[in-house]
Amino acid sequence: MVRSNNKINKGTLFVISAPSGAGKTTLCLKLLKKNPDIKLSVSFTTRKPRSRETNNVDYTFVSKARFMKMIDKGEFAEWATVHGNLYGTSIKRLKELNSAGYDIILDIDTNGARQLKKRYENAIYIFILPPSFEVLKERLVDRRTDSGEVIARRLDNAKNEIACYKDYDYIVVNDRLDKAYRELESIVVASRLRISRIDPDKIKKTYKIK
Ligand code: ADP
Ligand code: 5GP
Repeated sequence: MVRSNNKINKGTLFVISAPSGAGKTTLCLKLLKKNPDIKLSVSFTTRKPRSRETNNVDYTFVSKARFMKMIDKGEFAEWATVHGNLYGTSIKRLKELNSAGYDIILDIDTNGARQLKKRYENAIYIFILPPSFEVLKERLVDRRTDSGEVIARRLDNAKNEIACYKDYDYIVVNDRLDKAYRELESIVVASRLRISRIDPDKIKKTYKIK
């Protein structure tokens, strides 16, 4: 549940960050598949699509000129340069998903999460960690989606990103995928039991209290 003055007040925003290769996409896709009431905030990016990525599903892929225009028009809730490319969250998309009553996952970097914390203080901030730096490197190499140079840049950034873990509400270590997924899902389940998500009128009616 997000502060009402941001006009995002029906669902919960789950802001999820991790160093590249930790398994955030894998975990988020599983969460989305199993929970149709949660939707991904599809970010805009200037990065080139990877072979298995679809425009407007994984990202909306745009030119740098278009991205810069969107910044000028104030269309982003947050934006950041990550690994040399621009990424941003559209305010319009967040509002549309929220009005439709969905919980929303934002898969964004630590810089973007910090910006969002000022706007949406009631969002839930989750950080996914790899079991070790060595495993992180292995996963990036085995994923076979990035060149050696890109992998080196991502690993370089990983230490700075991991140092931001204290900005988050929850930490999930993605060692075994099934365990990490259960932990992530538990956070979602618990968030839905928060008092702020409960309809007071329903409680009054059910228990006949004033
Ligand atoms: P991110 O989105 O954080 O960059 P991905 O979800 O793309 O990371 O995962 C990076 C690679 O590691 C992928 O090849 C994925 O299949 C693999 N992976 C993810 N989680 C695990 C895990 N728990 N154990 C082993 N491999 C994993
Ligand atoms: P990738 O290029 O591997 O898909 O993502 C690289 C990084 O960009 C990831 O850490 C991802 O979370 C981050 N990212 C994706 N979308 C956004 C966004 O809209 N804003 C910000 N700040 N980061 C994003």
